[in-house]
Amino acid sequence: MTITPKKNTTTKHKTDLLALTQPQLQQWFVEHDEAAFRAKQVFNWLYQRLCNDFSAMSNLPQALRNRLAEEASIGPMIVRSEQHSKDDRTRKILLELADGKLIESVLMLYPPNRESSARATVCVSTQAGCAFGCTFCATGQMGFDRHLSAGEIVAQVLYFARELQASPWLAAGLPGSTPIDHVTNIVLMGMGEPLHNYDNVLQALRILNSSEGFNLGARHMTVSTVGLVPAIRKLSQEPLQVNLAISLHAPTDELRGQTMPINRKYPLRELLAACQDYISATRRQVTFEYVLLAGVNDTAEHAHQLVELLAPLKQFAHVNCIPVNLTSASYRPPGPEAIRTFRTILFEHNLSNSVRAERGDDIAAACGQLRTRFEKKRVSVSPIGSNQNHATD
Ligand code: SAH
Ligand code: SF4
Repeated sequence: MTITPKKNTTTKHKTDLLALTQPQLQQWFVEHDEAAFRAKQVFNWLYQRLCNDFSAMSNLPQALRNRLAEEASIGPMIVRSEQHSKDDRTRKILLELADGKLIESVLMLYPPNRESSARATVCVSTQAGCAFGCTFCATGQMGFDRHLSAGEIVAQVLYFARELQASPWLAAGLPGSTPIDHVTNIVLMGMGEPLHNYDNVLQALRILNSSEGFNLGARHMTVSTVGLVPAIRKLSQEPLQVNLAISLHAPTDELRGQTMPINRKYPLRELLAACQDYISATRRQVTFEYVLLAGVNDTAEHAHQLVELLAPLKQFAHVNCIPVNLTSASYRPPGPEAIRTFRTILFEHNLSNSVRAERGDDIAAACGQLRTRFEKKRVSVSPIGSNQNHATD
């Protein structure tokens, strides 16, 4: 994978090694007249030792290290801003890609509880911007810039993996627990629509899954989609069986069409049929994300409609209720009483559900917001008369 160099630099095209599977890396070495076994060594440095500096790869000859520094790169991106929530459990970075595009990634840390051990989940972006324009979503309001390469997706995970390796996190107030020093889960719920960038996303997941490298199990990966029906069907046939989350957000076509333009192309009947087929092919539960928008989709009637819509999927459907994060749009989250009433109706009809705990509000948790704020700041410091509205150098 070749990354376009920044303008006004003399850097020649470099191959981003994070975009390559181990067999592809091997092929790259062979094509460059180097020994094939170097691929195994470099893969180990990249994904097990989490090294991001060729000069530190001490079992490679110095000449090869120099050559790699000249001809290859390890996820070239600049961290423009890193923010930690007050409790340090949510950490958000704004990354500038080689061509100046900005994306966000988030690390969410969860202390151990009765059901599971401690988790460190990275929320990964798959595109710069998004083409689908959901009305409640900050990224959707930016429009689409471009797909991310597999290497740019992998690099986000490695950034936080290195941070945890260097400084493991210990949940405050839980003295008996062991610190968490590695990424345990990834969710493709950052900026962009993963299934719109299908090939690069699957390539990144395969790289992260490789048992000789980062070794993250497919069951620890979740792909969230706005509901691209043909891609959901394709995903169901992949050997890599990741978790699937569907952004549902409304129980009727009429309402969903108002907040999610994609519903006009793939209405609920087709979306639910694809989910049904996904379940038949994988025997895995599907999570339905439901952003609660006060006065829009959160009434008892909506809860009953949701129960009816998902009834055919039986125990294979799980609803994740998400009180909306504030963006520049005028949506507001419902109060705790309305959320309780909504969920009680789901429970009464045996529809499994949970509510996403709000977190990281003090650092603009909903993806797209940090970039929006950053760009506003950049605009406000631009020279008078400049119409620059994009944060590039
Ligand atoms: N494009 C994919 C994945 C990225 S969005 C998708 O739409 O599924 C990840 C999740 O965040 C989606 O469920 C999305 O609907 C939700 N989301 C978007 N804006 C939000 C907001 N303002 N508050 C809460 N969740 C939001
Ligand atoms: Fe895109 Fe997902 Fe946001 Fe919709 S919710 S605009 S699909 S990122």
